Amino acid sequence: GGPVPTYVYDFTQGGMDQRDLLGGKGANLAEMTRLGLPVPPGFTITTEACRAWLATGQEPEGLRAQVDEHLAGLEARMGRRLGQPDDPLLVSVRSGAKFSMPGMMETVLDVGLNDESVRGLAERSGDERFAWDSYRRLLQMFGTTVLGIAAEHFHDALGEVASLHQAPCDLDLGAPEWREVVDAYKGLVREHAGREFPQDPREQLDLAVRAVFDSWNAERAVLYRRQERIPGDLGTAVNVVAMVFGNLGTGSGTGVAFTRDPATGQQGVYGDYLQNAQGEDVVAGTRNTLPLAEMERIDARSYAELLRTMEVLEGHYRDLCDIEFTVERGTLWLLQTRVGKRTAAAAFRIACQLVDQGLIDEDEAVRRVSGEQLAQLMFPRFATGTSAERVARGMGASPGAAVGRAVFDSAAAVARSRAGEDVVLVRRETNPDDLDGMIAARGVLTSRGGKTSHAAVVARGMGRTCVCGADALDVDAAARRMVVRRPGAAPLVVDEGEVISIDGSSGDVFLGEVPVVDSPVVEYFEGRLDPGGEEADDLVRAVHRLMSRADAARRLRVRANADNGEDAARARRFGAEGVGLCRTEHMFLGERRRSVERLILADDEDEQEEALAALLPLQRGDFERLLAAMDGLPVTVRLLDPPLHEFLPDLTELSVRVAVAQARGGADEADERMLQAVHRLHEQNPMLGLRGVRLGLVVPGLFTMQVRALAEAAAARTQEGGRPRVEVMIPLVGSVQELELVRERSEEVLREVERATGVELAALIGTMVELPRAALTAGQIAGAAQFFSFGTNDLTQMTWGFSRDDVEAAFFPAYLERGVFGVSPFESLDVDGVGRLVEIAVREGRAARPDLKLGVCGEHGGDPASVHFFHRVGLDYVSCSPFRVPVARLEAGRAAL
Ligand code: ADP
Ligand code: MG
Ligand code: MG
Repeated sequence: GGPVPTYVYDFTQGGMDQRDLLGGKGANLAEMTRLGLPVPPGFTITTEACRAWLATGQEPEGLRAQVDEHLAGLEARMGRRLGQPDDPLLVSVRSGAKFSMPGMMETVLDVGLNDESVRGLAERSGDERFAWDSYRRLLQMFGTTVLGIAAEHFHDALGEVASLHQAPCDLDLGAPEWREVVDAYKGLVREHAGREFPQDPREQLDLAVRAVFDSWNAERAVLYRRQERIPGDLGTAVNVVAMVFGNLGTGSGTGVAFTRDPATGQQGVYGDYLQNAQGEDVVAGTRNTLPLAEMERIDARSYAELLRTMEVLEGHYRDLCDIEFTVERGTLWLLQTRVGKRTAAAAFRIACQLVDQGLIDEDEAVRRVSGEQLAQLMFPRFATGTSAERVARGMGASPGAAVGRAVFDSAAAVARSRAGEDVVLVRRETNPDDLDGMIAARGVLTSRGGKTSHAAVVARGMGRTCVCGADALDVDAAARRMVVRRPGAAPLVVDEGEVISIDGSSGDVFLGEVPVVDSPVVEYFEGRLDPGGEEADDLVRAVHRLMSRADAARRLRVRANADNGEDAARARRFGAEGVGLCRTEHMFLGERRRSVERLILADDEDEQEEALAALLPLQRGDFERLLAAMDGLPVTVRLLDPPLHEFLPDLTELSVRVAVAQARGGADEADERMLQAVHRLHEQNPMLGLRGVRLGLVVPGLFTMQVRALAEAAAARTQEGGRPRVEVMIPLVGSVQELELVRERSEEVLREVERATGVELAALIGTMVELPRAALTAGQIAGAAQFFSFGTNDLTQMTWGFSRDDVEAAFFPAYLERGVFGVSPFESLDVDGVGRLVEIAVREGRAARPDLKLGVCGEHGGDPASVHFFHRVGLDYVSCSPFRVPVARLEAGRAAL
């Protein structure tokens, strides 16, 4: 082969731009090292090495030699060898991928300890308890991570020793007890792994590195990536870091810190600290942590040093950072930093605060918030003054209002939510195995752990409501219930299935269902809350500020899909600049069904005319209201699209009714006629059948009536002083001939109405592009169309050959699981396939008609990634559901910046 790549980088060699290769953790450890911050020395094995390992199951050539070299360098620098019997160098072996996956992959601490070096460590440190505590930690982490032994075996063994010595807490165990635990753990390794715990420090290191590589494909990691849409082929880097010890007595400790409150964005001191502890103890929720501010009292010097460091990091990263640190006998060490996850509200607030502090400009601030975050801020929240009883309060860890039935394990959460119930997952603390339950639940409630606990971090990442550390709850998962302890009242038992409500901002927990109200951000979009007024808080001001910037920057216009005046008016308040899709089929339901039935059953043209004449004024009224709501802005009306039989009774039901009646001696004549019609119109593949323009050609009076209703509505609006802007859209066109036929007839109707009313109608006539053939012959079709609107739902359906109504339940889960695609192509546009058709149609359509107007209607118009694509290919507008309009505005702005 060619030259061996560099698989190992020392912390002094890398930097924050190398996240692809070094992972986020490694890149930031290197960056902090370069900044001169106190980071223990170490090195990073690249994601490239991991990918090679995962592909072949073997260490790539040259990796071992490079690890040797860097380990020797580390040993020389520390003046001790890995696992040296009288004075061991210990290291941690830590996963760290490009995108943060908190707690999803593995880390092994205290590598280098064995039966000998544990004594050396005890002697050197003068703290025997510490040495044995560290050894048992290594055994447990190595046993579970590397040797694959179930964690509960270790948990149970520890429990036995603790109860034997009547020690309720880890801290009550001394050196002799930890030694017993070590013996028990070694026995577990023998029993479950069928081998001795490896005493050779280098073998420990090598096995740990491989286990970290393999943890990339651990089930929970795969699930997390799917949820967060992280590609599955990136691999993880491995960081080997000299150990520093927070478990050296009460003068040592470990903690996590945020440079700002990740829930609100407020500047200040946020985090948790735990004395005499190591690594995961803080986030595991097994011991109650102290608020970070209390660290000042315990160790003022280290605390001051930490604050200084946080300032350096914020200034350098120009963003909220979160930090893992350890204090070893009065010396502060930084073990990790990253740009921290935050709630949606905090993201908007922080972006604006950073602008005010001069750290970033407004364009950068817009780039730092996302449409998904905005969508979260538009969720409703709890009404104040509820009569539901507040039974407990924890920490508001991830905002939102969640109402649902209490469930106490992940399996129940998944089962009940599949059955259509809303659930709230209640746990003592969560761990990565609870992930699918958290995904299934509306909210998560825990009795232990702080704002940095697993539950809090993961819930914030997914936008789930979360309350944590509600310590009045005794959660008993085995009994499927919790007991709520209340001061001055009898304890309350809440069983699985009882409805509770949790408030992720205040931390309140209610028994029963609390009604929810609009969010202030929605009130602002609706124009009910003045962003400059007294009542607006800093969140509303931040949203207003960033939306204004995005609106000024964006090139894409944003319209809404709206079928009636009311929706259109609401969409307009949300900032819609027109209607991109009015689905007229919705106007044929309810009472009007009868007229449609008459139309279908008509024996001759007169009867048909009559039925159409009955529909005309109703349609005209609909259109007038729609045009009034969008006065001055373009309104695209799609002529009738779905197959006619959708308006008729169900075939089976009707057949049964007629059969039963006949058996009783004579059916209703109308029913029998209807049955014949339903049979006549029955299609095997209705979505590929008589619909759209095909219907317009077969039942010509139908489209003509619709165009007439629209033209008359526009004329009436004009006469009333309005400024209607009408666009007539023909659906499901595959060839220019189809379009030309309908177009000619429509133009005649427009001219007739102009003559009759004396009003000049400047209506545009265009088509949807939703068949591959339309996209591929766009140059021809543009000759007869003044605009194209990409109907990306049908275009996706027709390009993939997927029936949207069927596939999502039938096999999409399997496709997603097996990586055929990372996200449903109905949710986010398939850029490679469907997107290519869009590009062709844009290019060839514009070549044929330079002033061709181009837009998109369909769910993709409100999907952030798709909006960026539509911006890139040069569409004029996107159209989406009214509630997504602000999201599309923001993303269109971000796409342009
Ligand atoms: P995760 O990605 O799950 O946070 P980490 O690799 O950061 O896992 O490590 C888990 C815990 O161990 C963290 O609290 C971290 O700070 C701590 N830790 C990792 N390396 C060291 C080390 N060299 N010395 C002391 N503590 C460490
Ligand atoms: Mg970490
Ligand atoms: Mg369609």
